[in-house]
Amino acid sequence: MIDLYELYGVELYGAIPLSECVIAKPYLLERAGITSDGSALLILLPYFTHGGEGGNVSMYAAAEDYHAFCRELFSDLCARLSGICPDPKFAGYADHSPIHEVAAAAKAGLGVYGENGLLITREYSSFVFIAGIYTDYPAAIWPKIVSNVELRSTFEAKSCVKCGACRDACPTRAILGGGRIDAGKCLSAITQKKRLTDEDEAAVSAAEYVWGCDICQLACPYTAAARAAGTLETPLSYFKDKLIKTLDGKTLDELEADGGFDRRAFSWRGEAPIRRNINLRGMRAGDGEDHGDEHERDDTDGECEV
Ligand code: SF4
Ligand code: SF4
Repeated sequence: MIDLYELYGVELYGAIPLSECVIAKPYLLERAGITSDGSALLILLPYFTHGGEGGNVSMYAAAEDYHAFCRELFSDLCARLSGICPDPKFAGYADHSPIHEVAAAAKAGLGVYGENGLLITREYSSFVFIAGIYTDYPAAIWPKIVSNVELRSTFEAKSCVKCGACRDACPTRAILGGGRIDAGKCLSAITQKKRLTDEDEAAVSAAEYVWGCDICQLACPYTAAARAAGTLETPLSYFKDKLIKTLDGKTLDELEADGGFDRRAFSWRGEAPIRRNINLRGMRAGDGEDHGDEHERDDTDGECEV
């Protein structure tokens, strides 16, 4: 029996048949040789840390890249699972994933589906990454091989209390309701874009963040409740160490010089978008910085892949 808490310190996880999931990227399953009658074990990785608050980088990107954390987790866990069950195939995904992760995690009972499009848990609010191990075995396999997995008899996603605080707090009115976000207006997406429209530039100039945006998450009463209960802080040291909560030109120079830039979640678009965002905010404050070079490592508008 594999004990995920003992091995990795994770406490929130649940299994779900793939037939209950929206398969958004079937080619990922095909590539892994996993059929749609298989299942997934979804594992939540809390990342909020009080040490990462108050800067201009979204909390998810303040520590080193969570994709690297997930890669290590998947490599170790898949090897252990294959050691117990040599026949089934196992593959791990996070972020760039075969399924709609938020809906599936809500259906698996790990939290509720927020109006802001995020999974919200009682303990960590929405400050969780969703990692998944996929297999061609049915969901009934998981309680037999991983401790404390209880398979639900019905899979139904619950919604948040729909208080509207996130919609009111969103500076760009990007929250459409029903868990839908207008990505064209959301600062989390805009700050990652390589090319900005005039409207985007105005939004970034006025934004609190140079990468990402946590405003709707911080406005949510589930976050306030988790904070008051003292559970919000992640127990995972990876997300508490090596924090960079504020980015400026000097920090970027230092990261480039010591090779640390590539180990950050905000590196996947190269330096140029961050330097541009810093500059735009600086122009608002009247202390603009250099634009930096136009070095770009990625020409796509796709997603990060683990
Ligand atoms: S702020 Fe209110 S409406 Fe928005 S996600 Fe949180 S509970 Fe739901
Ligand atoms: S991340 Fe920011 S811009 Fe996007 S929906 Fe939330 S508050 Fe609005």
